[in-house]
This record gives sequence, C-alpha cells and structure tokens, in this order.
Amino acid sequence: MKKILVTGALGQIGSELVVKLREIYGADHVVATDLRSSSHEITRSGPFEVLDVTNDKAMFEIAKRYEVDTIMHLAALLSATAEEKPLLAWNLNMGGLMNALEISRELGCQFFTPSSIGSFGPSTPKDNTPQDTIQRPNTMYGVNKVSGELLCDYYFYKYGLDTRGLRFPGLISYMTPPGGGTTDYAVEIYYAAVTTGRYTSYIAKNSNMDMMYMPDALNAIIDLMEADSYRLIHRNSFNVTAMSVDPEAIAAAIRKEIPGFILDYDVDPKRQAIADSWPHSMDATAARTEWGFHARYDLKAMTKDMLSHLSDRQM
Ligand code: NAD
Repeated sequence: MKKILVTGALGQIGSELVVKLREIYGADHVVATDLRSSSHEITRSGPFEVLDVTNDKAMFEIAKRYEVDTIMHLAALLSATAEEKPLLAWNLNMGGLMNALEISRELGCQFFTPSSIGSFGPSTPKDNTPQDTIQRPNTMYGVNKVSGELLCDYYFYKYGLDTRGLRFPGLISYMTPPGGGTTDYAVEIYYAAVTTGRYTSYIAKNSNMDMMYMPDALNAIIDLMEADSYRLIHRNSFNVTAMSVDPEAIAAAIRKEIPGFILDYDVDPKRQAIADSWPHSMDATAARTEWGFHARYDLKAMTKDMLSHLSDRQM
C-alpha cells in the first residue's frame, strides 16, 4: 500500500485529491501538507503538517518521519500570479520542485507533479497540439513548467527515479476556488451563474482553451501513478484534456440549465495575452495509449454536475 506525501494540499487540486487518496489508500497513508494551516476537513481526516516546500530540511524530516514512498508535489504559483511575481514564481516553482525531487531520490519515492498547457507557447501548433512539439513559452509559469518536465525526465534517466506527470488543462471544480490561473474564469462563471445569474469574462469570446472536470483530473493522477512503468514512454508530460471551450460555449451550456444567464466581457489584457499563447486543443493520444486515459465528463455533463452542486450549496 502506498504511503503518500502531498504538498500544496489545501489548493484546488490537493484539497480534493487528498480526500480521494485517503479513500483508496487509507487516511493514515496520506500525509497532507501546505504552507498554511486551515480548518479544512483534510487537516483533520488524516495526518496534516505545515510545510514550506522551499525548506528542504523540513520536507525531508516530514517525508522520513512518515516513511512515505510516494511524493505528489502540487505546491506552485499559478500562471496569472506567476506573471505578477516572476522571481517568487521561479524560487517556489523550481526550488520547491528541486527539493521534492532530491528528497524522492534520497528516499527512493515514486514522484508525481503536474505540468500544464502553460508549458506551450505562441510558436506551438494550436490545434490538436501534439504530445511532442515546440515548447517555447513566453510566461514565467510556462518556463517553470517546461523546466520542470525536463527536470523530472532528467531524474528518471540519471537516477532511475519513477517520475510521472500530466500536462493539465484548466481544471474546473466546485469545492475549492482556483488559485490564480488564466482559466479561473471557467470556474467563476459557474459560481456567478447560481448567485447573480450573470458573469463578466476577463477572457475574450472565441478564446478556446482545453479544460477538464476535477473528477477526471483526479482519476488521471491515480491511473497514471498505478500504471505499469514499462508502458510509459512520455513519463512526465502527458497531454490530457476533456474539452476545448471558450466563454460563449460555457455560457450556452449554462443557459440550458439557467435560461436567463447573461455573459458579458471586460477583457483583461494580461490574462488574455497568456491565453493567446496557449493551445486551443491538445492531442491526448499518448495518454490514452500508454496508460488508458479516459475523461468521463464533457461540457454538458460537467455543467449539469457543477450547477447542481453549487445550487445545493446555496440552499
Ligand atoms: P492552488 O494555487 O489552488 O494551490 C497551491 C497550494 O500551494 C496552495 O494551497 C498554497 O497554499 C500552496 N503553497 C504556496 N506556496 C507554498 C509553499 N512555499 N510551500 C508549500 N505550499 C505552498 O494550485 P492548484 O490549482 O491546486 O495546482 C496544483 C498544481 O497543479 C500546480 O503545480 C499547478 O501548476 C498545476 N496545475 C493546475 C491547474 C489548474 O487548473 N488548477 C492546471 C494545470 C496545472
């Protein structure tokens, strides 16, 4: 049975991933950590430790004390925030990753960290973006993510460390708000639909980006980590996606459930510039063939589920 340490566990992905991992592997087998403490359920439903991932000694001490054999490294500064604070982004995104990789090497842990559609750039083919293609991002976040993919490959080739990773698209979820990414609009729009019935998008009409619903993202992490190692050719950077959508497409899906929903625009040039540098739709063939990736939620199914959960919460 795996014994897993999760960094950045109180974020959008971690707060749901820890719950699911504890269901599968047992509460005591999943050590949740984050820079901050909170009253979130995951701080009570199993081991929780405050951990700054830039502190290698503290990370090593916790990993050793709990005798973990797997590290899932999620702590990072996301795309929009990283563009505002590039130096902090470099130090956290690269420094934290290097610490997590080194500790995995010392303790012989299996390792997972997410990459992103942000690892692509303006010169990447935008439609059906191949698994192996040009990656010359022009954002600090993108630079961090490409470097991270390469670093994880390096630890596999150099040390035989079992590193694995996914290039996530924008992730949509109803439990924990997103943490400063370019695709946050695709979550905010659902919250606005059930509260005020209208949303002003900072991303322009016709800006198609890949998205995926959180349950599919969690399954993808678990399936990849459980996959037979010998099947994996693209260990650290699998394209995964469930849909390619723009604000109009999401609004149209919402109107099927909430007919009067109003969408208007006040485009933010900074976040729009990031969006313009990203793919419209990725090719996830490698993930499907190498470890059986499969997304269950399309836009219609995700919209129904999001609105039903958010409406329940309003009552
Ligand atoms: P998030 O911003 O919601 O959460 C990040 C967490 O890291 C926060 O709880 C924060 O407190 C914590 N953190 C920040 N600095 C820290 C530090 N120094 N030490 C320890 N913890 C620290 O992020 P998320 O959406 O959960 O993303 C997790 C990972 O997935 C990141 O690597 C991100 O780049 C990647 N990713 C996310 C998405 C998405 O749509 N959410 C898409 C692609 C890739």
